[in-house]
Amino acid sequence: MTPTPASSVLVARGTGSDEVFLVARSPALRFMGGMIAFPGGKVHEDDEALSRPSQGLTTRHVCAIRELFEETGVLLAHQPDGSFPPPSAELDRFRRMLLDESIVFSAMLEATGWRLQASDLAPAGHLVTPPFAPMRFDTAFFTATLPPGQQATVWEGELTRGWWATAEQALSHWKQSESLLTPPTVSILTVLQGRPIAELPQRLRPLLEQLDQGRMPPIWFNPGMLMIPLDCQGLPPTTHTNTLLIGTGPVYLIDPGPTAPSEQQKLFEIADEHKPDAILLSHQHPDHIGAVNVSAERYGVPVLAHRKTAELLAGQVRIDRFLEDGDRLDLGLAPHGRGRWALEVIFTPGHAPGHLAFYQPDYQLLLAGDMVSTLSSLIIHPDDGDLIDYLASLERLKAYPTRLLLPAHGGPTTKARAVLDDTIAHRATREKQLLEALAGGEKSIDELTQVLYRGYPESVLRLARWQIHTGLVKLQREGRAIHNGGRWCLR
Ligand SMILES: [Zn+2]
Repeated sequence: MTPTPASSVLVARGTGSDEVFLVARSPALRFMGGMIAFPGGKVHEDDEALSRPSQGLTTRHVCAIRELFEETGVLLAHQPDGSFPPPSAELDRFRRMLLDESIVFSAMLEATGWRLQASDLAPAGHLVTPPFAPMRFDTAFFTATLPPGQQATVWEGELTRGWWATAEQALSHWKQSESLLTPPTVSILTVLQGRPIAELPQRLRPLLEQLDQGRMPPIWFNPGMLMIPLDCQGLPPTTHTNTLLIGTGPVYLIDPGPTAPSEQQKLFEIADEHKPDAILLSHQHPDHIGAVNVSAERYGVPVLAHRKTAELLAGQVRIDRFLEDGDRLDLGLAPHGRGRWALEVIFTPGHAPGHLAFYQPDYQLLLAGDMVSTLSSLIIHPDDGDLIDYLASLERLKAYPTRLLLPAHGGPTTKARAVLDDTIAHRATREKQLLEALAGGEKSIDELTQVLYRGYPESVLRLARWQIHTGLVKLQREGRAIHNGGRWCLR
């Protein structure tokens, strides 16, 4: 899927200023909800009407100017005498109308006679959301200077607040676990530290050149933890598995999944810099272990997993040390500077018999593996899954206070509790449907699939049969269903 075009603006107070305006995204937003970023958003259809390519004013420029105005009230438009419009009730009224979509930006500029100029924005390059999420953006970043007399203010809605900060201040709050930053914000603030905002285009260039050469951007969702989404050919609709690197020494590589050498190369380009000390496995599924042996050999490090995972991988991957529920793995000196940090092991059987999740209490991070996905519901396969155990494990995870949940498939979420509750509720709905279908008389798994998943394509039905099978086994173990000669009925 092609990433959606978007723009984002780093606005500074004066050309030599090292303070930038940051905004907090509402926790209700689907994309990067609850995180801090720069003002910006996706290109609207109307933005093209105002673009003047011959004057260097692209659709992305227009989008950047409009989003900056909607989100902060800062308006980079010129009055007939060339000056910027001062704050006024009229300006507020237009901003309100844009936000409630009762006017489009081109109509506002037509009504006022104000003009846009490409020279008000300096392009700094594009960053594209890596393929961990179905919602992806190709964002053009710009720098700009706050027009004299104007102020940046956030009206609560899609954003919850806005403020001026230096790169050091914003990164320090992030390291102290006082805020969550989006990964592009981390990358940009890191190259800006101690320098004026206007230097962004030149400071960002080395990173952009690396990306042009096909390298993965560094995805920092938390200090001391890198996410590396790689194509591991999982079950549909999943393609990518999020490999993680966590720790400040020792460093752990979690679930190196890809089997394709080209994807393994992307992993090594990042992991080589961080020199992992051990490999951790959440469970034994193929899309989580494809690069385990090559990584263990490349770095000369042991592989750690649950004993049951080791049994299932016998002859395929050697597990050097067993992990148990409650084990603590030292991660070194914490990025927050207050002593050491550690990773707690949580035994969460169900999706797989030896499934482990990991919890980092200082930052309240839950590395959930395949316990939940933010892409779709997860498969519990009748051969190695157990729905009763799975539901009990989900309930257990709810007890961990979580600011950020990172699943192995899909983007991280700040709404851990809701995701866990929804996953449990989804299973309850499917069980209710199964009981209703069985109430109408005994049926085979194929017949039940036809009833519960009517109209779905065959690719989905294959997975649905497994889900129904595990649901029936749960009912059987609970004494609520009986299996007889390939047919199932209520007890
Ligand atoms: Zn799995």
